[in-house]
Amino acid sequence: MKEQLILLIELQRIDSEQRSIENKKDLLPRELERLHAELQQYESAVDDTRKMLEELVQRHNEREQDLVRGIEKLKKTKSRLFEVKTNKEYQALLTELDVINEKNDVIESEIIVMLDSIDRARDDLSKKEGEYRLIRSDLESKIKKVQDEMDSIDSLLTIVTEKQLNVKMKINSAFLKRYDLIKQKRNGRAVVPVWKEVCGGCHMNIPPQMYNQLQRSEELILCPNCNRIMYWENRGNGES
Ligand SMILES: [Zn+2]
Repeated sequence: MKEQLILLIELQRIDSEQRSIENKKDLLPRELERLHAELQQYESAVDDTRKMLEELVQRHNEREQDLVRGIEKLKKTKSRLFEVKTNKEYQALLTELDVINEKNDVIESEIIVMLDSIDRARDDLSKKEGEYRLIRSDLESKIKKVQDEMDSIDSLLTIVTEKQLNVKMKINSAFLKRYDLIKQKRNGRAVVPVWKEVCGGCHMNIPPQMYNQLQRSEELILCPNCNRIMYWENRGNGES
């Protein structure tokens, strides 16, 4: 009996291991996806900021050219002052000069604001590039780790399944049937340790006499409350 119980305990350990590997197999692809998405997020932040900076620089260059043209226009218009013949023409030209001057002033103030924005965008870009550099190697090594785990998980499952078959072959078929039934009903846990009269499955107390029987391991004893197969786990320190 004792040997059968030891085999059932071993089977439970293997089954739990199998279950946790299977859970992991489900979770790993999602974890990989999450890590890639996080990396992508940092990449996009850098790309977006760089694009914004490029656009600002381009707009600034365009505005600088507008200013060059404006100054040129001002020069040409001023030179016409010496050619006018009537006072009316002269006044009209002065008004025209005012308009050109005003336009140029507006462009100049726009350029100043733009230069300020360009400075800020440059700072922002270097900050985001720094963050990306820092996080990238960390995320990449995490991705590598998850990929390695995904690559090895099937062989781990094969090994566990082999161990499982091996143990099952040695277990009495009636016990095995009972084990499978309890496992199914009790969320994968059919065999539980008991210590100090407390069932490790449902945490309820078992009768003292049953506890004594359990310590002798002479028969298969089920918890009166949760119906799981119990075994006595000696956790030492002199008490039982
Ligand atoms: Zn129980």
